[in-house]
Amino acid sequence: MRSLTTGPALIAGAGVGGLTLALSLARRGVACRLFERAPVLEETGAGVQISPNAGRVLDALGLGPALDAAGTRPQAVAIMDGPGGRLLKALPLGAEAERRWGAPYRVIHRADLQTILLQAARAEPAIALMLGAEVKEARETASGAALELATASGPQAVEGAWVAGADGLGSSIRRAVKLPLAARATGLTAWRTVLPAAAVPAAFELSRVTVALGPGAHFVVYPVRGGREANLVLIGDDQTPRPEELVAGWSRPARDLAGAAGTWTRWPLRDRSPDPRMHRGRIALLGDAAHAALPSLAQGAAFAIEDAAVLARLVAQDGPDPLAAYERARLMRVARLQMRSRRQIGIDHMSGLAARARNLALAAAPASALLAGLDWIYGWRDDA
Ligand SMILES: Cc1cc2nc3c(=O)[nH]c(=O)nc-3n(C[C@H](O)[C@H](O)[C@H](O)COP(=O)(O)OP(=O)(O)OC[C@H]3O[C@@H](n4cnc5c(N)ncnc54)[C@H](O)[C@@H]3O)c2cc1C
Repeated sequence: MRSLTTGPALIAGAGVGGLTLALSLARRGVACRLFERAPVLEETGAGVQISPNAGRVLDALGLGPALDAAGTRPQAVAIMDGPGGRLLKALPLGAEAERRWGAPYRVIHRADLQTILLQAARAEPAIALMLGAEVKEARETASGAALELATASGPQAVEGAWVAGADGLGSSIRRAVKLPLAARATGLTAWRTVLPAAAVPAAFELSRVTVALGPGAHFVVYPVRGGREANLVLIGDDQTPRPEELVAGWSRPARDLAGAAGTWTRWPLRDRSPDPRMHRGRIALLGDAAHAALPSLAQGAAFAIEDAAVLARLVAQDGPDPLAAYERARLMRVARLQMRSRRQIGIDHMSGLAARARNLALAAAPASALLAGLDWIYGWRDDA
């Protein structure tokens, strides 16, 4: 088999995963061609939490100063009882996150993250980005791999050494890896909005990430745009027509917060059960294309970034079968994330006695024990 470093990598999708992979490959001297279906790269009006496991990768790519300039390092995560309005537990982040997990915990507007990744990618001569190029099919060839594209000027075929499918939840590259295309409808919807910081009730300090838990729903609020704005995500039953109704019986600040939001974007949530593989031959998957999970642990983008770092390293190291090695390195970890994310949403949305027991347990648990429970996620390092 020809080395994967002898031709360009063909990457489908220029989301967080595809852009990070392109950058990680280029920095290791591997050329790539990146194909994105959207004619213009735009992001949802929403924030994203970049935890230390992913922050470490982005810092190593030299993006730390830009992330700090556009984002915020929250000082804590506050877990609240939504209906009662009580603070159940505050877990320190800020300097404690850096001390414990060796990299910062940041929150940032998605458009800012995308701009940072895109600017860095555009500055790399080894990356060729083509927008308005929809990948229709991926296949192996005698000497490598190829993509069939649909572009404004008609169909095109491109050849390279191997393919990375970073084409998100609805990935069509999964077909070439012989994995099912349909994702699971979860019955949940995420309502997302960004609002001026001044509109956020004082109960939700914007120096931290607040997670408020209630029966059948939870919300997350944190600062974006240097603290001038707040990102709000409200997750609950997808049959509820308006997001405010999800928190109708909650404490006053929670209701005020939901009421202060102007335009919401509705985002039906789908996920997948763990798959048995992440590659086939010269075609690999990463990010949501490989392991779509519920956002309850806020790790989808972070794991796409982890995938990208591992995949780029193994390809550049040029061992016997880099894509099989990538799958071995990632499969159990991504499966754990998918299963834990499902379990977490069940805990977050408990009602009645179960919710009371959860709240008591959270309030009684030492912060150090709760932080230790996050070590497997945030303490991850690519063990090169
Ligand atoms: C409400 C909510 C909150 C979240 N919060 C967090 C968080 O705080 N932290 C976190 O880490 N994660 C979070 N996530 C998860 C995270 O958003 C995703 O896991 C992440 O964006 C996946 O990145 P990706 O690059 O794999 O896919 P995507 O971001 O979906 O990118 C895929 C790209 O491929 C392109 N594409 C698709 N099909 C084709 C094709 N056929 N040809 C060419 N291009 C194609 C798309 O246009 C897109 O640009 C959240 C998700 C939700 C829903």
